[in-house]
Amino acid sequence: MKKIIYVVLFTFVICLAACTNNETVKKNMNDTKNTIDTEKESSSNIKKVLTKEDYKNLKVNELGEIPVIMYHGLVDENPPTPYQRRREDFKNDLQYLYDNKYRLISMKDFTTHNISVEAGCTPVVLTFDDGEPTDFSLIKKDGKLVLTPDCAVDILEKFNEEHPNFGKTATFYINGGKSQFEGAGTYAERLKYLVDNGYEIGNHTYSHKELSKLDATKLQEEIGKLVLEVNEELPNYTVDTLTYPFGIRPKTDELKAFIKEGSYSGKKYTNVIAFREGPSMPKMLPTIHKSYDMYNAPRLRGASNDKNGADLWGYLKKYRKKPELRYISDGDDSTIVIPKNEEQNLAENKIKDKKVIIY
Ligand SMILES: [Zn+2]
Repeated sequence: MKKIIYVVLFTFVICLAACTNNETVKKNMNDTKNTIDTEKESSSNIKKVLTKEDYKNLKVNELGEIPVIMYHGLVDENPPTPYQRRREDFKNDLQYLYDNKYRLISMKDFTTHNISVEAGCTPVVLTFDDGEPTDFSLIKKDGKLVLTPDCAVDILEKFNEEHPNFGKTATFYINGGKSQFEGAGTYAERLKYLVDNGYEIGNHTYSHKELSKLDATKLQEEIGKLVLEVNEELPNYTVDTLTYPFGIRPKTDELKAFIKEGSYSGKKYTNVIAFREGPSMPKMLPTIHKSYDMYNAPRLRGASNDKNGADLWGYLKKYRKKPELRYISDGDDSTIVIPKNEEQNLAENKIKDKKVIIY
């Protein structure tokens, strides 16, 4: 008996030594190679090229669904409005998403379809409306501006420290008046903190009116004035994504055109995307899908109590039952990999310089 154990142990040790040596040799080889290769070549050496067999095994589908989640402030007790989220539930949302291979991407990467998540993972986008201090605010500690403990950004930062490959980004849709994210720091310092730390700022209109009730002049003022105000604080920042207050859009096509572009006080503005407050389309498609409407874009309320399953957890449960609905990445942001049966759903005008692979 003892003999057998020794033999097993000995083999194990030899194996371990061999693996370690091999790794060292490989590393040294790579080091030498890297000094010879150009930067571009060495990065492509690291990138694993997937085969069609890999796509099948991972069920890669880069036309599958990408959840865009909408939050409106965190509370500790039961929320006074259906839009608010309990802190514990928010933390649980993040943990579930991480454990189930969802990874955060920025709004910019979502709108331009420049998606870089690990192979086999599904991108997810976080949005926060109304400039709530429980989503993001600062306090002064030892003369320094730091995050208010347990605001959503603080929670995201801490989650990212423990799970660095989850990603760390979200977009904050704000209103005007420079009163957003109430707390320490000037308005400029608050906005700058977000942008400097990988978060984005979007337009939730200047005074949160129902856009269906406004004429062309007032509509452009509501959108353009917010952009001007942000640019007073952050002159080089581009605000070009919008969320409709109450999820309500202007009524006519003529007025809807002012969502995309218009001008206020002699300054032009552009929005590349505008979101409603619910899954106005039954599917949470990527922007390169033929059926995606950039100005009627869907979001999922960060909640779990919608009777029709039209909120975050309604969709997460649906994806658990039908994982084939999810966008599954091939891990390479330079390609769009889609199964044959999705081919007709690709919007050709949005492919740009990406390589399309159909399998
Ligand atoms: Zn709002």
